[in-house]
Formats: sequence, C-alpha cells, structure tokens
Amino acid sequence: MTTEPSFRESVDIMFNKAVKLMDLSPGLERKIRVCNSTYTVRFGVRLRGEIHTFTGYRSVHSEHMEPVKGGIRFAMGVEQDEVEALAALMTYKCALVQAPFGGSKGGLRIDPREWDEHEMEQITRRFAYELIKRDLINPSQNVPAPDMGTGEREMAWIVDQYRRMNTTDINAAACVTGKPINAGGIQGRVEATGRGVQYGLQEFFRYDEDKAKANLTGTLKDKRVIVQGLGNVGYHAAKFVSEEDGAKVIAVIERDGAIVNPDGLNIDLLKEHIMMTGGVKDFLSGDYVADGASILEMECDILIPAALEGVINLKNADQIKANLIIEAANGPITSGADEILLNKGVVIIPDMYANAGGVTVSYFEWVKNLSHIRFGRMQRRQEESRHQLLLDELQRLGDDPSITWEMSDDFKTKYLKGADELELVRSGLDDSMRAAYQSMREVWHTRDDVPDLRTAAFLVSIERVAASYLSKGL
Ligand code: NAD
Repeated sequence: MTTEPSFRESVDIMFNKAVKLMDLSPGLERKIRVCNSTYTVRFGVRLRGEIHTFTGYRSVHSEHMEPVKGGIRFAMGVEQDEVEALAALMTYKCALVQAPFGGSKGGLRIDPREWDEHEMEQITRRFAYELIKRDLINPSQNVPAPDMGTGEREMAWIVDQYRRMNTTDINAAACVTGKPINAGGIQGRVEATGRGVQYGLQEFFRYDEDKAKANLTGTLKDKRVIVQGLGNVGYHAAKFVSEEDGAKVIAVIERDGAIVNPDGLNIDLLKEHIMMTGGVKDFLSGDYVADGASILEMECDILIPAALEGVINLKNADQIKANLIIEAANGPITSGADEILLNKGVVIIPDMYANAGGVTVSYFEWVKNLSHIRFGRMQRRQEESRHQLLLDELQRLGDDPSITWEMSDDFKTKYLKGADELELVRSGLDDSMRAAYQSMREVWHTRDDVPDLRTAAFLVSIERVAASYLSKGL
C-alpha cells in the first residue's frame, strides 16, 4: 500500500480484516460496518459585532443499543469522515467494555483557543440547541461526553441548555456525561480515560506470555515511556504510571515540540509549565526538541500516543522503536502503519480498548443520574458498622489472656472504612478494564489466525454487536 487511506477507511480496513475471520452473513457484516446517519448543522452566532457561521456534526454509527454514546470534539480538523470513524470506534468500544450503548460522535469545527469563555459558552449553547431539538442530545437516545477540546465546562453548558429546553424532564442530568460534580457529574470522570490506560497497562503486565510478545519483562517500574499530548488523557495516564507504578516518562511531545529527559519528567511540573506558557518549550528539567513528531521514533519501552489520529503512519512506522504502543488517542495508527508495526513485532493495545475508561465511567455517571443517588450513599455506613462488629468481636476474643495478638491501628482504619464514590468508580473501572482485556487476550492466544490484539478486540465486539442485532430479529 502506498497511499494512506482516510481515518474512516482505515477503521473499515481493520474491521474488514477481522470480519473475514468470522462467520457473518455479508448483509449483517455491511449493516454493522456502515454509519447509520450523520447530521451536519451550520449555525450562526453574533460575536464581536458580526455573524460567524460554524459547522458541526453528530454522527450515529449503530443503534443496536440505545442510547447511543460518544464524545463531542472541538477542533479545526473536525469533518464528516473523522466524526464517522470516531462514531464507529465508539460502537466497538462500548461492546468491548460491555457499556450498554450504541456508538456516536460529534464535533464542531472550531479552535477553542481563538474565543474567550463567554463566546465559547454562546457557541456551545447554540450547537447544543441544534442537537437537542433533533433528539441528538437526549438521556434515552443520544448522550455525548467530552473529547478533544471539550471538558467539564462545556458539558455543564450543554446540560443546562437541555434543562432550559426540557423543563419537566426528571432525567435531564443524564443527557450528557463528564459534567462537573455540582451539575450531576461523578467522582473520577475527569481522570477516567487516563486511569483506564493505566489499568490496561497494569493488566497487560500481569501476563508473562503477553509481555514476551512485546519483548518486555517485569512490571511497569522503570519502564521508559513516551507520551504524545499532555491533555486530559495523556496527562492523567503519564501522571499515574509515573507516580504510582514507577514508570519513567522520558519524553512528552506537545504541539510546539518535545521535551526529553532520560531520568524521567515530573508530569505535574510540566503540566503547570504548559498551562502557564502554552507549550513545553523552556521547561527547565529536560531538553527541548523543536520537531516533536521525531520523538515518536525515539527508543522506549512504551509509547502512548494521546493526542490525535494518524500520527503513526506509512511515513514513520518503520522508524518506531517502542516495544509496546498503547493507543490512548483514537486512531493514532493508520491501517498501513498497523501492518508494518505488526510485522516488526510491536505489540499494540488498540484504541477501542485502551481509551475505553472514559465511556466506562460515563456509563456509571449516566446510571447515577438515572437513579438520582450517589454511589455508596445507601451502603457505606452500614458496611462500616458491620466491619466494626467484626473488629469488636475479634477484640473480645483478643481479651482472652491465653491468646496474644493485636491488630494494627492502620489495619483497623483501612478495614473499617466503607467505600466512597471515587473508590467504587475506580473499582468498577478496574474490573471493566480487566474483564475486557481478558476477553481480547483469550481470542489472541487461542486462535492461530488472530495475529494481534486489535483483530481480537474487533472479533469480540463485532460478535456482541451481531448478537444484539440478531436478537432483534434483523
Ligand atoms: P485534549 O484536548 O484534552 O488534549 C489533547 C492534547 O494533545 C493537548 O494537550 C494538545 O495540545 C495536544 N496536541 C494537539 N495536537 C498535537 C500535536 N500535533 N502533537 C502533539 N500534541 C498535540 O484531548 P483529550 O480529551 O485528552 O483527547 C486526546 C485523545 O484521546 C483524542 O484522540 C480523543 O478522541 C481520545 N479520547 C478522549 C477521551 C476523554 O475522555 N477525553 C476518551 C476517549 C478517547
């Protein structure tokens, strides 16, 4: 292959590679692959004394389960092909982590850095209005979330806009996820995608057989990691693997270049520097490299592309030296590059799994909104009093002079504590990431015709989507 396919074609090529190994009727195969609908809207907003026209999309890939789910992206590269590719990935992602949603995605072609906060609010509310009035934002039909260029702030505007237009909808809070806590959000959603990347890596490192395929041994400790994009996903992933698992983030690639330090970068300090100066340049504890993309080709154990699609492509795939790539971004590796890397023996943990932490915790948030109660509120104190009961009884036995033992205060405190919402969310996320990884690796290791984790992930998720369509009598 000499020319690079588009992002959507790239997803289709990988889908086709997997579906060839399955026994689906050609009709069902096509039905699953195609994108059901894409709505394009152009709307005007009066700003700075004149009317500006913006173009936005909401694409629904599959409605085998409803509501459909997927983020809203604010970026200049947003166009129909990209939104459709991302919506398709959402279908497979939700199926893989067993979040009960169809796949969707939205986008607005805008550079958020060009507008101030008040202007962004006007633009976001107007875009939300256009989608809400067509039920493309709706708690039971279509539930967006943050993606590149959007976050809690935009989700808060969207939910408020929905409430204004649906004043009697008791489930209004569930129309969008990734909201701030005070607007109906859930603890742990902001960190969720990066946290999921960490849990995914931890799970990978639990299996010697899997590590051997990537020529790696041991744990995450001291592994050399390169991260591209220190935004929501990249920042949390880099922070957690370095602070909690002892990995060394030896380089971070951002828009304005890369910063390299073989001893490991302090991620919080670097993030602070980026927030203050707008880039990585002039960060004191590391060497600056102006051609950031060249650092993707640097020697490392784990490469985490967490910025945008297509960054590893036919031009640079051959030069990549990482043993393991975990696709924190959606579509960072083109289908052509995927083949090259596979032939080189690089193990790729695919996007539909790697960044599924976001939609998993979004699922918890949606359930919380529909149940109108925070997780843990009913059982936390009851759990604590049962633990107390057990400790009291053990203590009573301990009072027997013939038995000599004592519980440490630390054990008592930890054992007594009932789980709060954040702990429950992390536990649910960890469980989901482990279960999904296990379902992929089982296919990867048991079928000789499945060469990689991506094909395995597609097989698992297409199987589930197909079963869902068939049970509907399609
Ligand atoms: P973000 O906007 O918070 O961060 C993106 C980061 O990438 C920014 O720091 C930006 O400066 C940097 N960047 C942009 N262009 C770059 C370039 N050419 N080279 C290097 N860095 C560049 O976005 P995000 O939410 O972290 O999303 C990143 C990726 O993760 C996207 O592919 C998105 O679809 C995917 N994702 C996000 C979520 C989520 O919950 N936010 C969930 C699933 C997948």
